[in-house]
Amino acid sequence: MKKSCIKVLKREGEPLRRALLEMDLLDNSARIISEGEHLYLPLTEEPQESQLMNLAGEFELTEHEFEEQKGQLRFEDLLDDIPHFELVGDIALIEDDVSEPEKVADAIMKVKKNVKTVLAAMSPVEGEFRTRRFKVVAGEDRTSTTHKEYGCKYYIDLERAYFTPRLATERSRILAQISADQTVADMFAGVGPYSIMIAKKSQDIRVIAIDKNPDAVEFLRRNVELNSTSNVEAIEGDANLEAQKFAGLADHVIMNLPHNANEFLDAAVKLCAPNATIHYYDITPEDDLFDSSLKLIEEAAKKAGRTSELVDSRVVRSYAPHQLNVCIEVRVI
Ligand code: SAM
Repeated sequence: MKKSCIKVLKREGEPLRRALLEMDLLDNSARIISEGEHLYLPLTEEPQESQLMNLAGEFELTEHEFEEQKGQLRFEDLLDDIPHFELVGDIALIEDDVSEPEKVADAIMKVKKNVKTVLAAMSPVEGEFRTRRFKVVAGEDRTSTTHKEYGCKYYIDLERAYFTPRLATERSRILAQISADQTVADMFAGVGPYSIMIAKKSQDIRVIAIDKNPDAVEFLRRNVELNSTSNVEAIEGDANLEAQKFAGLADHVIMNLPHNANEFLDAAVKLCAPNATIHYYDITPEDDLFDSSLKLIEEAAKKAGRTSELVDSRVVRSYAPHQLNVCIEVRVI
């Protein structure tokens, strides 16, 4: 069978094999090929850009013929359907409406050897702090883990603070817009996935990271240390109040609180230095993806005596039937 794979020099193959295994990208159902000076490591799926950045050394993404590895368990051997789950560190998350959750969790643990705990979500993302409740279905009795993304590490307790790996590509898109001497205000920083990745880009970037959830800020501070970043100011407090202390300083304002970000627009504009960009996230209906939200941003700028211009508007991901998670970027002049 022909599969996507990574071609690497044999002498550099072992660290790459281990890294792929850790990210659940190494397809254990196919046998690794050794040909000349190279190894061909079969992949479970096409790696995302964020995953490729986690891989050190020289390698090439290509395709090759592989033979089946005998004795390796696959989901098809254990279940009728391949299960949907999300990986955060060594925890697999399944939804609460999965039928036979114990059977699915058992299969995940058998096939994905790196998974140590399977959690079923018992609530949607809820409350001011955007957290979820979980039930341990299999493995170790815990809701905390360390997740790796774009060369950064995040310690998280999923019941105590918000985190999703699904925004990894979006975070890297924002990162690309920020240059070395700029100041960034992350108004709803959570455990720090935007703030820390941005801070790691350059020591000369100043990051003001605010969150109201004391647990999220505890993890944010821990993650600042874990990633050896010295340019993140982790602030526990209400973004509307804290923003007043940094008026006119930010070149970028990140507003990742979909549903409620509109309540913080006056504070966001106040944070803006001349020509700053607001990155505004929202959940919007299919038939009004950007217009109503854009109007709110423009009104807030006008109220503060500033002019504004639209830089970009895009769908980030789908959220629910007919509802999308969007990002609107506006320059406040
Ligand atoms: N940006 C982070 C991320 O991508 O993982 C977290 C995003 S989460 C959707 C929104 C965050 O806003 C939560 O961590 C929540 O605690 C925080 N929050 C809610 N209300 C807030 C407020 N009034 N001031 C500051 N932070 C707030």
